[in-house]
Amino acid sequence: MFAKFLDDFRFITRCKKYGLGLWQCPNFLFLVMGMIAIAAMVGTFFVSSRFASEGVTVMSVTLEVVFIMIIGSSVIRGVEKVAEANIMKTEFISIISHQMCSPLSAIKWNMEVIETERDPKECLPEKQVVFLQNIKKSNEQMLKMVSDLLEVARIDQGKSIFEEKIFDLAELVKDSVAGFRSMAAENNIEIDSQIEPVSQKVCGDERKIRVVLDNLISNAIKYSKENERVEVRLKKEDEKIVFSVQDWGVGIPHYQHSKIFEKFFRSKNEFRYRTEGVGIGLYLAKAILKHCGGKVWFESEAEKGSTFYFSLPAVD
Ligand code: ADP
Repeated sequence: MFAKFLDDFRFITRCKKYGLGLWQCPNFLFLVMGMIAIAAMVGTFFVSSRFASEGVTVMSVTLEVVFIMIIGSSVIRGVEKVAEANIMKTEFISIISHQMCSPLSAIKWNMEVIETERDPKECLPEKQVVFLQNIKKSNEQMLKMVSDLLEVARIDQGKSIFEEKIFDLAELVKDSVAGFRSMAAENNIEIDSQIEPVSQKVCGDERKIRVVLDNLISNAIKYSKENERVEVRLKKEDEKIVFSVQDWGVGIPHYQHSKIFEKFFRSKNEFRYRTEGVGIGLYLAKAILKHCGGKVWFESEAEKGSTFYFSLPAVD
């Protein structure tokens, strides 16, 4: 709390971060405004006690108010600049992701044609089959990242369309877990799933909830240590369906807990440079669940592991 307060006074760093000059930086200008307000009060007291004339007092107060208004308008312009930069960043992400989608989809389509026309294992040397598999895997990772970035841009611009449909969350969880079995096996990680055998129907956008599931399960695998276990659970609690995924991996230190759902945040740990990711999976999960009337939370301790949960209202 105190550290956050002190952080507000690091104007130069903050202004540089926003790309603003000192006299456009809201943090600095707020301090100036506060100092002027204090000086104004002291000045008014001094003037009115020295010169009994009402005219002088009114003049000095008017002058101070004008000063505060000038500084206030600079603060507004600074805030507007920051907001504009944010809009431009979102548009930039959206344009770049759109542009990347077509070539990446073309690579995927061509790879599928190659594979369906002739089995690479039959007509290519072993080494080249491995290269082809690597190309395919990297392409899928890129496509997933680009489609997440596009969804983030759509959500930020308020343009994301959410379908409303009743579906069985248990089936979706089973499907998602099945999709990650080979990724887990590559890292010697075992996935256990405990799915309560009761109706687990929810209402929302099935495709988007699948993105949430995929992001949480893949994180549990990505941030697990080798030869560990990942446990996926789904159960009905009161009027809610609660999903959780637990790992015994690298964990998240307490001081970073408040930042974990922020856009582009990646925790500084030994896995940061070893794992793929840009820090949008959890931001996206939170935004999607909020839209579907659900919520997401987690428990984590550094070096001990994490459990990520989400809940959605149950539909009978
Ligand atoms: P990323 O693409 O970096 O995984 P996310 O938004 O999914 O992005 O996660 C943000 C950050 O939260 C990650 O970079 C990682 O530092 C931390 N994190 C997420 N899930 C876990 C987990 N299960 N265990 C440890 N750290 C995690």
